[in-house]
Amino acid sequence: MTEFAHRVEQVSISGIREVFEAASEDAINLGIGQPDFPTPAHARRGAVEAIEAGHTDAYTSNKGTPQLREAIAAKYDRDYGLEIDPGNVIATSGGSEALHLVLEAHVDPGEEVIFPDPGFVSYDALTNIAGGTPKPVPLRDDLTLDPATVEEAITDDTAVFVVNSPANPTGAVQSEEDMREFARIADEHDVLCLSDEVYEKIVFDGVHRSPMEFAETDNVVVVSACSKTYSMTGWRLGWVIGSNRRIERMLRVHQYAQACASAPAQFAAEAALTGPQDPVEEMVDAFEDRRDVVLDGLEDAGLEVPTPEGAFYVMPKVPEGWCDEVLERDVIVVPGGAFGENGEGYARISYATAMEDLKEALELIDDATAAVR
Ligand code: PLP
Repeated sequence: MTEFAHRVEQVSISGIREVFEAASEDAINLGIGQPDFPTPAHARRGAVEAIEAGHTDAYTSNKGTPQLREAIAAKYDRDYGLEIDPGNVIATSGGSEALHLVLEAHVDPGEEVIFPDPGFVSYDALTNIAGGTPKPVPLRDDLTLDPATVEEAITDDTAVFVVNSPANPTGAVQSEEDMREFARIADEHDVLCLSDEVYEKIVFDGVHRSPMEFAETDNVVVVSACSKTYSMTGWRLGWVIGSNRRIERMLRVHQYAQACASAPAQFAAEAALTGPQDPVEEMVDAFEDRRDVVLDGLEDAGLEVPTPEGAFYVMPKVPEGWCDEVLERDVIVVPGGAFGENGEGYARISYATAMEDLKEALELIDDATAAVR
């Protein structure tokens, strides 16, 4: 007998925390992974009214309230013309739980999960927790994931490949052509495509498309959340969408590990999804302005940086020692290596921070860049 499970021993504490701990209290934080906007008033009101009316005193259905699942289904019809039955939705405790459900329900020990590197830290960790084998794959020069790279990486042992667009940590948005390819690969190789779409609404230049729109089989599951779109990271409300047989397997995990998503958060999410969407548009406009300022600042500092089309991150290539120089000037950025081996030599800069702080940070970054040249 060993004291701790091997699956969990494989998982290390996220490298992002280490940076925060090394920083001084009044540092400018460009390491943040959540919007710096308030949750829209109508969403907050949705929760408060439900609490006052006593609607949140009990467990909801394991899958979530019918009204929330209808609101989620209606969103997919509105946004993508996808007809989703509310029975094919599970409301989860954030996008994180949804990712966990997909991997727990589909990955056997020894099976591989392909995901982007650099990529969101949870794909590697949750693959290990599910007992699977992480298979990180590199990105194109523009930091998008090439469907051909995924197709080449697939073996008889591959259970799942992950697509994340817009992406954390790169801000890259996959084209419609890529999404069609991912759907084809999922269909032809009979491998599950896990499409992580938590940043779906934060897109500036192109439009977000989902591989679920293009797949001919049920080999695509979609994960999304209120977290980034409605600035609701603290509420913990996300969802997963899949075919009957996939939802049934994921429900077996969800109903025992979670019972149901938090009821007040479900009412807030329903209000967020069915109410006015202007707060989202205003937030996205603000992010776009900031992205442009950050891009200009980094380019002026002489850094090479692909133009991110979504989320709220920029990922420049940086010289050795750069992150330390930046941190010494009290600006927090996350070294790219926290997101996978191929992230070495990059840094993730989040612009979910007020414009004046960003401008000040860019001056300090300019100074730090000159110091390592
Ligand atoms: N997927 C990606 C790509 C993310 O960046 C995050 C959070 O940072 C999540 C999923 C998890 O989101 P949630 O806060 O809804 O659990």
